[in-house]
Amino acid sequence: MSEQDQFRELIEAYALGSLDEQERVMLESHLTAGCADCAKALAEARWVTSQLAYLAPAAQPSDMLRARLLRTVRADAAAQPVRPSKPAVPVWLWAGIAALFLFTAYTTWDAWKLQRQVNEVKKRAAEELKLREQLQEQLAVAKREARIVMDPRSKKIILPPHSPDMPQLEAMWHPELGLCVMGQKVPMPGKNKVLQLWLIPKTGGKPMPSQMTWPDADGKLNILVENPPEVMAETKALAISEEPLGGSLQPTSTPMWVGGVS
Ligand SMILES: [Zn+2]
Repeated sequence: MSEQDQFRELIEAYALGSLDEQERVMLESHLTAGCADCAKALAEARWVTSQLAYLAPAAQPSDMLRARLLRTVRADAAAQPVRPSKPAVPVWLWAGIAALFLFTAYTTWDAWKLQRQVNEVKKRAAEELKLREQLQEQLAVAKREARIVMDPRSKKIILPPHSPDMPQLEAMWHPELGLCVMGQKVPMPGKNKVLQLWLIPKTGGKPMPSQMTWPDADGKLNILVENPPEVMAETKALAISEEPLGGSLQPTSTPMWVGGVS
């Protein structure tokens, strides 16, 4: 038996933690010396040890280890009557402890991974729910706008632009469902500005502030006012002006669009 083989014989028992002190020190100094063959054999032995935890039939201890285990057991049996005081820890117990330890480590890792997956699914479900709520809200708005536009009781109001290079807007006002203002190719207001809708009362009072909005990326403007601050019969005109973010209590710039409610 070469020196190399002697060390190889020790490795599986080492992986199980069943070497005696002298053998362990010998093997560890050999491994520290950098023997690649033994390091590889140790990695394999540790894999076999870990597989013992799942009782995988493919991962049987080698004949070498089995012979050694038998020898250890025989030696223990032989030594027992002579030295009954020696605390003989049977190798199967070490193997059991090693297997249990590995199994526990694996189970903990698995539980942690599962918990992370559960959290990920929960997060995704919450995001989806939020998205669905937003879609339902958008759908409700679109339905209401469609009803306002289609209903013959709605009044159509044209809002010509103040500047000739701006598109014309159109509004539909339904006595119960509300008011919607629509436009295409509407340019984005300036930085930190918003488009604000105003209802100008017939009595000559101050314009009443209403909704604020921006056109979408395609320049589509869509304002739905479900509860206008004034009834149609009391309103002289609709106007839209550019206002600072957050809106204003009364217009601070010349309206970009004004349309008479006749
Ligand atoms: Zn070696």
